[in-house]
Amino acid sequence: MSQSAAAIPSPRLFDQVRFVLNETSHPGNVGSAARAIKTMGFGQLVLVAPRAGEAVLRDPEAAALASGADDVLANARIVPDLGAALQGVNWAVALSARSREYGPPNAEPRESAAMAVQHAAQGEAVAFVFGSERTGLSNTDVERCNALVHIPANPVYSSLNLSQAVQLIAYEVRMACLARERGEAPPVAAAVAMASLPSGLDAQTPEALATRDDVEGMLSHLERALVDLDFLDPDNPKKLMTRLRRLFAKSHLEREEVNILRGIAKHILERKRRH
Ligand code: SAH
Repeated sequence: MSQSAAAIPSPRLFDQVRFVLNETSHPGNVGSAARAIKTMGFGQLVLVAPRAGEAVLRDPEAAALASGADDVLANARIVPDLGAALQGVNWAVALSARSREYGPPNAEPRESAAMAVQHAAQGEAVAFVFGSERTGLSNTDVERCNALVHIPANPVYSSLNLSQAVQLIAYEVRMACLARERGEAPPVAAAVAMASLPSGLDAQTPEALATRDDVEGMLSHLERALVDLDFLDPDNPKKLMTRLRRLFAKSHLEREEVNILRGIAKHILERKRRH
């Protein structure tokens, strides 16, 4: 089948996907991850506070394992925290070797890849976030994302090497990009999860959609207001913010909706101050 005029050219989709490695300790894994994403057609690697610091980009082991992906390694962006890594990102997926009791909704790798590509096709920036070799992602890191993915590996030993987890996900995202270009339907589970996305005439421009940092800003504003209202006890917060994060992870918030929620938080804080 030839590419239809409506098909989104692949470079655009591939350019909207970011791979984020959080607090990686082994430079070799950074090099291998660069190679993994380049072989699958991606190029954006973001490193959150790697243990070796900026030097990781010039580390001999990283360079050796990056091999022909030395350009991806050289262009990797180093940021101080996950918030900075997710700046401008509309939809983020956390990858975890462990299952979690709380957090964003779970998705299968294939389903999450199809969902990510659907978001990317609407002009959104998407990110896949991987944890450190020793401790993985913290619950707080996971809660910053819209979906949680566990690669269903051997239940008695399911912790993959970091760069191999990156390879597997990058492959799935590549397959989802190519399927979309061919006009194929996404897997059923992804189609169901994506049914709520705006499409056609209702489609929002990416600028109108909230990013992860907009949502984080709103959540900390709301948290302060809920403390002020005595609805949230900071000494015994229970799972309130986790539940709210999960709620907002599921919705495709627009910037204006985030602003309404911030407006409500602002009024609560102001009223409390006046009384
Ligand atoms: N010891 C860590 C595992 C670290 S593996 C822990 O207990 O969490 C490094 C990273 O690779 C993980 O944080 C995750 O992002 C990814 N990873 C490894 N195995 C995975 C799996 N089965 N499913 C999803 N992600 C996985």
